[in-house]
Order: sequence, then C-alpha cells, then structure tokens
Amino acid sequence: MKRFLNVGLWFFCFVAIGYSQNSYELVDITTLDSTILVDIKYATSDNFMGEVLYTANICLLRRPVAERLVLVQKHLRNQGYGLKIWDGYRPLSVQKKMWEKVPDPGFVADPRYGSNHNRGAAVDVTLVDINGRDLEMPTGFDDFSEKARSDYPDVSVTAQQHRFILQQAMTAYGFQTINSEWWHFNDKDMKAYPVLDVPLEQFIEGRKQ
Ligand SMILES: [Zn+2]
Repeated sequence: MKRFLNVGLWFFCFVAIGYSQNSYELVDITTLDSTILVDIKYATSDNFMGEVLYTANICLLRRPVAERLVLVQKHLRNQGYGLKIWDGYRPLSVQKKMWEKVPDPGFVADPRYGSNHNRGAAVDVTLVDINGRDLEMPTGFDDFSEKARSDYPDVSVTAQQHRFILQQAMTAYGFQTINSEWWHFNDKDMKAYPVLDVPLEQFIEGRKQ
C-alpha cells in the first residue's frame, strides 16, 4: 500500500511540475487574440539601436501574462479602442547588445539582472482606435526624454487622456506602470518567471507548421 502511495505521490508531482511549466510557456499573443496589433520595433531598424535585432515581428509572452492582456484588449474594444504592441519577450542576448550600446540603467536594464522583457513578463504597448489607427500619445517609442515619464504633465490634453485610458485598462488587469516610460507595463507576478535566452527562431519555426 505504501509503495502505491509513493508511486501516486511521484506521479502527482510529475504531472504538477509538467503542468506548471506548460502553463508558464511563452505564447504568441496573436494566437490568443488576433485583434491585438503587433508592431515590434526591434524587428525593424526604426529603434534606438538603428538596427534589426529580432528576426520576426512576433510578440511572445508567458501564458498568464498573455491571457491578462487579452482581457485588457476586450475591455478596450468595448470602449472603442485597442492595443498595439511594440515589444514583448526579448531574448537575453538582445539585452546584452542593447547594454553594450547604452550601458545606463536609467534607459536599459543591466543584463546581469535581466529585464522583465527577458522574463516574458513585460510589454511595451500603445493605444489605437477600434480600426487600428494610431492615436496621439505623449511620445513615440523609446523616447528617452522626460516626456516619456508615465505621469509627465506637460503634454496635450488628448495625449494625457489616451495615456490615462491605457493605464486604467492595463492596471485593472494586473499590470503595473513604471515611472520612466508610459508605454512599458510589468506583469504583477514578473519575478515568478526566470530570465530566458530562447531565440525567437524557435517560435517562428513552430508558427509555420
Ligand atoms: Zn519595455
């Protein structure tokens, strides 16, 4: 009997570990909600590095993070808005490249500790209208001026309203703002996810199948 109990316990642990790993997997956000727009700036040379860093326009996030973002999108669409993503999961190797160019923790997370993007638990996102058209926001992506601050007051009323709508929706579903960038949101459970250096190619191959 004891042996059966032991076997049962091991089986339970095995299934539980397998399930928890699977539930934390990285997923392509568009497979959960195709209405979320993805415009990954690091898949183009239109970014502060001036070079292409990602091999595809793909936004990967940990599954619980992605599921929360789907709820944000539903909430926003009911109000006539939507999300456009500028960045999600970022491999650690890309973080190291960024740090080589801008070794300033005020702008780029030190790869020794990793960015929450490296954990698949942060998203850079802006607000669009229901038809996917860009809306006026305080700044563009990766603006390193103080205008990018999430509470910066000296921007147009329209930009302030849009920033407020985005922040309200994101924080209502478990995301947190940061002071320095209005477009960046951390998942509330970010530290639960380890830093990863899985190349994007692995997921792009999976998407083709
Ligand atoms: Zn970010």
